[in-house]
Amino acid sequence: MKLLKTAQFKGTLEVVTGLHIGGSVEAIEIGGIDNPIIKHPVTQEPYIPGSSLKGKMRSQMEKKEGRVGSSGEPCGCGKCMVCRVFGPHKNTRHSLGPTRILVRDAMLSEESREDMKKAAQDGKSYIEVKTENIIDRNVGTAKHPRQQERVPAGAKFDLEVGVQVMDLDQDSDVEGYVREALKSIEESYIGGSGSRGYGKVRFTDMTLDGEPFEL
Ligand SMILES: [Zn+2]
Repeated sequence: MKLLKTAQFKGTLEVVTGLHIGGSVEAIEIGGIDNPIIKHPVTQEPYIPGSSLKGKMRSQMEKKEGRVGSSGEPCGCGKCMVCRVFGPHKNTRHSLGPTRILVRDAMLSEESREDMKKAAQDGKSYIEVKTENIIDRNVGTAKHPRQQERVPAGAKFDLEVGVQVMDLDQDSDVEGYVREALKSIEESYIGGSGSRGYGKVRFTDMTLDGEPFEL
């Protein structure tokens, strides 16, 4: 098995509706926000873990291709395109070669970083806090309001996705498949509370090996 080429997708991930990707439990301070978002440990800037993007691309493609098993676990058949591109789940005995896709953590863009600095200078928070009420259906009143942090609409992150094309892939379009998987995220959402309208994103300024293209 031989590596034929590596392809590099780059672009901008733009947040269309407030995005919540949860931070770790250890990061939650007493008396703080109930549901903080994940932030870079050093800069405290929000970012989107590559694993979140990759996981969403995978689950969308599993749905499209009918690879969703009753267990709810990712596909591990070791034969399908999902397994080839994203790696077969819990299957160490396959002959697909290496996982083709590498999704980097998407860091806050320079433009949004400036917006965040400016907000801080003005004594405001760039990260929004949304209070979600849970309605008590018996009495029709709100109870236990929860505060969720969200990356605001308009925030931009730098997207970078690498693809390894192997000699085994000659009769399949791995790069086209990755494009389709990215597109499928636009049709869905990332992070939590998607059914309540959170986490719609779009990809702009896309390039493949430096060549601009429309997703
Ligand atoms: Zn599979």
